[in-house]
Parts: sequence; structure tokens; C-alpha cells
Amino acid sequence: MRVTFLGTGSAMPTGERVQTGILLEGADRRLLVDCGSGVLHRLAQVADYEDVGHVLLTHHHLDHVSDLLALLKARWLAGAESLSVAGPPGTESMIADLLSVHDYLQDRVDLSVRDVETGSFSFAGFDVEAMETRHSMQCFAYRFEDRFSFSGDSEAFPELASFADGCTALAHDCSFPDEVDVSNHPTPTQLGEALSGVDVGTVYLTHLYPHTDGNHEAMLDSIADHYDGDVEFAEDRLTVSV
Ligand SMILES: [Zn+2]
Ligand SMILES: [Zn+2]
Repeated sequence: MRVTFLGTGSAMPTGERVQTGILLEGADRRLLVDCGSGVLHRLAQVADYEDVGHVLLTHHHLDHVSDLLALLKARWLAGAESLSVAGPPGTESMIADLLSVHDYLQDRVDLSVRDVETGSFSFAGFDVEAMETRHSMQCFAYRFEDRFSFSGDSEAFPELASFADGCTALAHDCSFPDEVDVSNHPTPTQLGEALSGVDVGTVYLTHLYPHTDGNHEAMLDSIADHYDGDVEFAEDRLTVSV
């Protein structure tokens, strides 16, 4: 399975990192996780968006869903016939509301939308496990095929770190450096503390606000004070095999 970080930024633009999106690719299966602003453009840089017909949302904040209808429209114009979207409770009603505003997009593709719950389910041919995170709205973290986990947006806490235990890679929200007083997202020190004792191949830091620019070394040091595993900053278009 290949994991490509399409967007590693946040709600505040950096000029280099677009908003959240991660592409998973296995044999004959592709799944886009989140679809924030800029993700459709990144997707076109690394894959054929006509081949990406499934989107799984962690939550409904704008920096995770902005490009969803843009993807739907691009697929319609390209002649792709379907789009399947899944996400936490409320996903069906959110998409119905979006389509009631942009009503010219209704019925352009065969659209299926599904609300999922925590626990195990299958989507786009991937075995998925979901757990609820700690964020300012309901948000799910996902574990895919027991190989890759994504925190979604969340504070760091031990149960979420343990959720990724044994995975080859974990992508974790690390929105701000330690100097920023924040809730609903972790600081590096909090993330390091949560990761302590967990066995993950590589932790990739993502959801990076502009505040993190110039602070990468200090952030890695803060995590390393509590966690001795491999930690790297994700970059847009970085692909890893898991
Ligand atoms: Zn959020
Ligand atoms: Zn976010």
C-alpha cells in the first residue's frame, strides 16, 4: 500500500502546504482521505483523479472538505460516473446541504454517501478501523489495514497513540510548536508524551500551521524528549510505502 500526502497544511495558508488530503493506493484500489482546499490540484499532480472515486472524511471542518464538490465537478466533466463519500455522522446531511447550495451539481454523477461509526468497516476495498479523537467537533482517526494510521485533527492522548501501535506509519496532527497555547490540537511535547511506549515505524507530522515554519528542529527535539522512535515532517506529495 502506498500513502501519498497531498496536503500537509492547515486552515491558514503557507504558500507551500495545501489543506488536508492523503491518498491511499493498493492493488486496484484508491482512497482519498479528506479533501481540503488545494487537494484536488495536488491529486492531479500525482494521479488521475478520474481513478479516485472514494473519499473518507475525518470530520467536517472546511480545511478537510473544501475541495469535495470541486472533485465531484471535475469527475463529472471528465466523464467519471460515480463518487462515494463516507465520514462521521452528519456527512450525509452536510453533502445534501452543499448540493442544495450548488444545485447544478446534483445528479451529475452517481453519488453515494454513507455515515460511518467508530469501530471496523470496509470502504473502497480497504479494511478500516475508526476511533473518535479530541477535537472541537466530532472527528475520527482511522487505521487502514493495520499498516497506516491517521489521527485526523486531534489533541494528543495515549489511547490515540495506542490506536496506531504496530503500524508502519502514523500521520499525526502536530499543528503548532510548543510556544503556542492551543487546545483541540497537540503541541510537540504533548505528542511526544502520548507516543511514549508506542511502537510505530515512522510518525509523520502534518496539519502544520505557519507557526511551525522555522521551528521544525525544536519540535522534533520536543518529541524526542519523550519518544525515541522515528519522527519526520510530512511534505506535500511525499509518498511512503507501508
Ligand atoms: Zn478540524
Ligand atoms: Zn483541520
